[in-house]
Amino acid sequence: MINSRGIIPITSATTRFAPDHSVLRKQNGEGLFIADTLRRPLRDLRISVTDRCNLRCTYCMPRAVFDQEHAFLPRAELLSFEEIERLAGLFIRLGVHKIRLTGGEPLLRRGIEHLIERLAKLHDTTGKPIEIALTTNAVLLSSKARSLKDAGLSRISVSLDGLSEQTFRRMSDSDVSVRAVLDGIDAAQRVGLAPVKVNMVLKRGVNDHEIIPMAEHFRNSGIILRFIEYMDVGSSNGWRMDDVVTAKEIYERIHQRHPLQAVDPGYPGEVAERWRYADGGGEIGLIASVTQAFCGECTRARLSTDGKLYTCLFATDGADLREPLRAGADDQMLAGMIAGYWRQRNDRYSQLRHTATASARQKIEMSYIGG
Ligand code: SAM
Repeated sequence: MINSRGIIPITSATTRFAPDHSVLRKQNGEGLFIADTLRRPLRDLRISVTDRCNLRCTYCMPRAVFDQEHAFLPRAELLSFEEIERLAGLFIRLGVHKIRLTGGEPLLRRGIEHLIERLAKLHDTTGKPIEIALTTNAVLLSSKARSLKDAGLSRISVSLDGLSEQTFRRMSDSDVSVRAVLDGIDAAQRVGLAPVKVNMVLKRGVNDHEIIPMAEHFRNSGIILRFIEYMDVGSSNGWRMDDVVTAKEIYERIHQRHPLQAVDPGYPGEVAERWRYADGGGEIGLIASVTQAFCGECTRARLSTDGKLYTCLFATDGADLREPLRAGADDQMLAGMIAGYWRQRNDRYSQLRHTATASARQKIEMSYIGG
């Protein structure tokens, strides 16, 4: 509850950051530029809408950890669509212009289309509609693509780590067929969710033999295939540097077979390095999240399924926004908390990876914080 001075009593969850009073003084509806201690503005928001998934990718939600005994969040702990919409509106006032829905598997959240409909009505501080994107494993996409598009989804990224059933099963630890994912991708293209991006995480000795088959499958399709270096997110995947197939190596393997030419970034801070096939076969992306950290340009906040704000994928803790929200905090107070937390942000884990990994911090799992 808010006390007589309009201040939320300090709780264990909110002690680590002071609300930003310049934001508190602003009137509703005014845009505000905020930047962190490394001068990075707040531009993007990733929202995890569920911590559950229908796959058990070994590098993300290993079955031994995320098994029958695993305590997923109970429904009451999840932010409701109304709560997400309200918080999203505040992030937008502070500079966000792009929202990505993720998880867990976002298509498992019942009525996700209704959330998209609400978010798609929001406008950034310059009056432009907010761009709404979604990352999915596409298992449920073929039946949902149309309703997602109609709800106002702007873009979609599909995760697919191999084309052969055997490789896909090894990576996803599931009986789902590759066909289901490819059908989902086709459906997304058919309804005009273009350009569809496909993300492939590479793990040495597990799926790197599929780099060329994947590249050749998606060449000339209008789909942008992006190769992602396997990262040490969370604490359950047993990450080792030896398992990482570097972006440089991926580039060399593809370039040898199908010559590539560099493409300029689409916007400042784009995480994927863009390349096009010299013969006009389309474009690929390389995301060197381990070997060429892009912390310096990271403008991304993450909202976990239960309403905690994280400022880094490799965070160990975040700021609870759900508690003050449910206790009745007004918009100025909440915006002040978000701004205060962002302004004190100094994380750059990927640039400091080697020291940080050595200290074996307990990092938040990606399925919870949102990939
Ligand atoms: N379930 C959805 C999906 O599969 O796209 C969204 C959540 S998933 C956590 C988001 C993305 O994170 C996927 O592309 C997945 O491959 C990627 N990812 C998960 N763990 C990763 C890791 N350790 N390194 C690199 N990428 C990872």
